[in-house]
Amino acid sequence: MAAPKVAVVGAGVIGLSTALCITETCPSCSLTILSDQFSPNTTSDVAAGMLIPHIYPVTPVCHQQAGLWQPLCLFAKVVIAVAGSNISLWQVFKNTPKEELPFWSDVVLGFRPMTKAELQKFPQHQFGQAFTTLKCDCPPYLLWLEKRLKATGVQMHTRKVADLWELHSEYNVVVNCAGIGAHQLLGDKELFPVRGQVLKVHAPWVKNFIRDGDGLTYIYPGIHSVTLGGTREKESWSLSPDAGTTKDIFDRCCSLEPSLQGAKEIKVKVGLRPSRQCVRLQREVLSQGGVKLLVVHNYGHGAGGFSVHWGTAKEAAHLVRECIAALQDSSARAKL
Ligand code: FAD
Repeated sequence: MAAPKVAVVGAGVIGLSTALCITETCPSCSLTILSDQFSPNTTSDVAAGMLIPHIYPVTPVCHQQAGLWQPLCLFAKVVIAVAGSNISLWQVFKNTPKEELPFWSDVVLGFRPMTKAELQKFPQHQFGQAFTTLKCDCPPYLLWLEKRLKATGVQMHTRKVADLWELHSEYNVVVNCAGIGAHQLLGDKELFPVRGQVLKVHAPWVKNFIRDGDGLTYIYPGIHSVTLGGTREKESWSLSPDAGTTKDIFDRCCSLEPSLQGAKEIKVKVGLRPSRQCVRLQREVLSQGGVKLLVVHNYGHGAGGFSVHWGTAKEAAHLVRECIAALQDSSARAKL
């Protein structure tokens, strides 16, 4: 069989990392990325890039811990070298959470309850956790992934795919990493947007990473700007910034860190988190008139795409290798 042709649909963090893992797992295949948008115009470019465990309701916790989060140990080295840093974060709660020791407490570094002295800085909050995790600066990381892929000969084409089947005559295996685009591409009714609006501000004196335990209000200093969040608006498809929301985010963040009143150059970004009860990470065989197309899905990462991308990319690449083995097997049998 000639070199199997594989197409990855999507060039956000999931598509690019999956493509990179495929080049390592299936070096004999010819790989192309097809996407209607590339960085800086993807949801992944909007993400704050914090590696904070996100709970996928119907995925067993042990799988989330072992299969998705732990490969970060490998990823950590890359992200720190390319576009990120180790950061220490305070997560503060107005009411003590039911689970004082979350399932990911031994995955992040140095997890501990905040001291009384630290909590004094947050008079509206009564409980807090301190830990060290990673922050990835998303646009430079995406560009680094693109550069790595081009250097290994991966082709990248701007193309909107209306139906995965349209690729059956050109490719042996198609990998669907279309993020929220999979809603239209597949008609997946389980996939829904959770709109997120954030502000990027110039406030270089802000050094502390602070997050309200409700996940809505956060202050994340980055290399070039500080990200202020945010919103989680289920089923909202609007990509237009909302002025009332901008003011609300700014006020909420100032109540956590009053010095932000002096922040300048406020830019507003909006993205749609591709949300599902669990990530869709599986093989599917499409078939029409006796012709088959092997598909691997890897989408629906919701609010945790950066946190888990390396784990899901490795698993998707493993599924692509299984597809290629099945193709080679049936091609060998046809010759007998
Ligand atoms: P995308 O980045 O949207 O990429 C999808 C790609 O598919 C795009 O290139 C698109 O053009 C392409 N595409 C879609 N449809 C088609 C089609 N029909 N044909 C061709 N191409 C197509 N996650 C974290 O882990 N940590 C965080 O701190 C964090 N903060 C966030 C803050 C905000 C405000 C938001 C909105 C999200 C945040 N996330 C965070 C979540 C994270 O951004 C997503 O989980 C992740 O970006 C999803 O990546 P993706 O590659 O699946 O989607």
